[in-house]
Amino acid sequence: MQFLINPARVKRCMTILPVIFLASISLIQCGEKMMQSKSSLKYVKAELDKLAPVELKCDLGGISENDRQVLVRLVEAGRIIDQLFLRQVSVTNPELSDYLQTNLKPENAPYLELFNIMFGPWNRLDDDRPFINKKPKPAGAGFYPEDLTKEELDSFIKEHPDQKSALEGTFTVVKRQDQQLIGVPYHVEYADLVGALVNLLREAADLSKDPTLQKYLRLRADDLMTDEYFESDMAWMDLSGDLEVVIGPYEVYEDKLMGYKAAYEAFICVVDHAESAKLAIVSRYLNELEAALPLAPQYRNYSRGKISPVKVVQEVFSAGDTKAGIQTTAFNLPNDERVRTAKGSKKVMLKNIAQAKYEKCWIPIVNRILAKQPLQQVTFDAYFTHVLMHEVCHGLGPGVLKTADGRETTVSKELKDLYSTIEECKADVVGLFTNLYLIDKGIFLKESKYSTLASYLGGMFRSIRFGINEAHGGGVAIQFNYLIEKGAFFTDPKGKLDLNQTALESGLRDLAQELLLIEARGDYQAAEQMITKYRVMTPLMAKLVSQLADLPIDIRPSYPIAM
Ligand code: ZN
Repeated sequence: MQFLINPARVKRCMTILPVIFLASISLIQCGEKMMQSKSSLKYVKAELDKLAPVELKCDLGGISENDRQVLVRLVEAGRIIDQLFLRQVSVTNPELSDYLQTNLKPENAPYLELFNIMFGPWNRLDDDRPFINKKPKPAGAGFYPEDLTKEELDSFIKEHPDQKSALEGTFTVVKRQDQQLIGVPYHVEYADLVGALVNLLREAADLSKDPTLQKYLRLRADDLMTDEYFESDMAWMDLSGDLEVVIGPYEVYEDKLMGYKAAYEAFICVVDHAESAKLAIVSRYLNELEAALPLAPQYRNYSRGKISPVKVVQEVFSAGDTKAGIQTTAFNLPNDERVRTAKGSKKVMLKNIAQAKYEKCWIPIVNRILAKQPLQQVTFDAYFTHVLMHEVCHGLGPGVLKTADGRETTVSKELKDLYSTIEECKADVVGLFTNLYLIDKGIFLKESKYSTLASYLGGMFRSIRFGINEAHGGGVAIQFNYLIEKGAFFTDPKGKLDLNQTALESGLRDLAQELLLIEARGDYQAAEQMITKYRVMTPLMAKLVSQLADLPIDIRPSYPIAM
């Protein structure tokens, strides 16, 4: 079975057959074969097992009745975002979704469940492998004609330079029309859904008593009708009430053909005031923390300029791009450089998502690999505080550099392809180092020190599990191997991981010093040496990772408010 609906055939037949009828025929043919294949159902069930189901808890106790009403409208708006993104992934998705909802036998329900999680018939956890038919996912998703190649688009633009911005635009879909390629703005292509979305945002704005949210929602509604998002992105930076909402087209990862087109997504959240207060305290110590870094005074940096504000929230509902496959625990928006220059950007951390992942994915890992003493001391609070400090510490240490010959540059420009691995590693290590500093100072609870270290060790294998070639996993591999060499970690007679507190504290200081110096000098060679030496999958790491193969890799949340 090759494929669901041949686009060329659909195009030709459209004039004589209703789309749904056509789709149904193809789907039924495909569906019968699909359902006959038990191994396929087994595959689908195994993929679902990788995602632990969780009802996402969210404390709405502190918010006003008005805000509750606003949330109801916004969740409805989120459902429209889901539909928009489904269409962006593939133009045939809506028909396939309808077919699955009405025609599947109960025993085949897992197909629909995985389809809903992945927003289409391709498994995002397995390189977009198709699980409902054999048709590969088009690289350009539903943003371009399925048969369009990069070369054709580029050469068409060369011949029609006046079409460049329309075709390459972040908020247009590319279509064929009379032997030409045209760029159709999202608000035109998806006019029906965008219209409904805009109405809901305006209703929510009318219900809200928070002037910053009102302003954002009204401007966003206007901007969705024009696909110019600057004004509402600016307003988003100023949100200061109990609700934290972002809704619209943002990330371009779904467009694997060109990387131009933004996918619709939404985060509908309430602010976590307790964690925000913790962050506010930390922000008062930033200069003191910078001064405490194991770094020679001439390299210290007290003027990182606009450090992105960090906000901690609880997710009430998420929609579209961000919900497909793996769940987001933190995001940094907006992407518009004009807004970033004017106001910086905002990092939003989703605490209840982090907690759900901690309980469903993180705890099962530490249960298998940690020795008794550290295992008894791991806590979500210690884990999450380190996550927060990691984010804060992206803003500490060297940033802008001056070379010996007076040239102004940045750490990232000097470390090039190695920058993200070194910087993620630095944020982890300096994050823990400053976390311990605040514990020693009594700003954070003194008793939390051992559990902070135990939780740090426990968390390492969640990252390493996903591979060490990506920046986060690679950064953690460096830490693990460096610290094991210093005697900070060791295995007990049962093969479980344990820690030596004194060696760990001094090892962290040494590693922080080495990483900060690499950054301060923009030393590419030293970065390369460190990565070559320590970013390796040792036999011990491989053995530990192999014990985790059957554990869930992520969560699949359900949202009580949306039920
Ligand atoms: Zn980071």
